[in-house]
Amino acid sequence: MSTIVMNFAKVVTRIREAEQAEARQSGSTALLAVSKTQPAAAIRAAHAAGQLDFGENYLQEALDKQVELRDLPLTWHFIGPLQSNKTRAVAEHFAWVHSLDRLKIAERLSAQRPADLPPLNVCLQVNLSDEHSKSGCRTDETAALARQIAALPRLKLRGLMAIPAPSEDPLEQRAAFARLRQLKESLPPELSLDTLSMGMSQDLEAAIAEGATWVRVGTALFGAREYGQPSPTKESP
Ligand SMILES: *Cc1c(COP(=O)(O)O)cnc(C)c1O
Repeated sequence: MSTIVMNFAKVVTRIREAEQAEARQSGSTALLAVSKTQPAAAIRAAHAAGQLDFGENYLQEALDKQVELRDLPLTWHFIGPLQSNKTRAVAEHFAWVHSLDRLKIAERLSAQRPADLPPLNVCLQVNLSDEHSKSGCRTDETAALARQIAALPRLKLRGLMAIPAPSEDPLEQRAAFARLRQLKESLPPELSLDTLSMGMSQDLEAAIAEGATWVRVGTALFGAREYGQPSPTKESP
């Protein structure tokens, strides 16, 4: 068995065990394979292991891989920092954006989403630790921004996303994810949010314990990267 296939089996087992430990329904956490910096061949191997959802951070790299892999029925998620000049390509070539954190970008994505595609699924990225990160909206502006984004015709606001400051301590990890869950629960029910995008290779158990519906996993599936850590202060390699 290839390393990628074995890694997938391990990560899926971690996810199912974490769900079981919290008496969550099996399969209620979806796996987003973060394939940034990985070659198309690695994505092909992951697809052969049954994976359909892939997350990318760097637009040009993602577009190149999408062309190489257009024979596969993959769902693409944009999870990196998003500047105005990149919105059109993201609106045209992705099914999800997890890293939306400004109204201006949301308005552009909605205006540029092609009419023949379903609305673009989006998560509002929240900055849980203001000193750590530059990406993400402030917690105190989340509710207003969520309402404005939900009103845009070609976007479907699904929920919230965060990248907490890295921690080795499971209790600290859980506390950060609990804050995102509570923030989501505090938003108006008429927004019908169903998504919490949180948890990575190191902390997916803590995220699942706090209700993650997507865990975004790179290293544990594909091995270590030379660049492209999810440090929100680093925009691109
Ligand atoms: C790179 C990245 C991940 C995956 O991180 P790993 O630690 O490799 O699992 C998840 N989310 C975002 C936003 C990332 O940039």
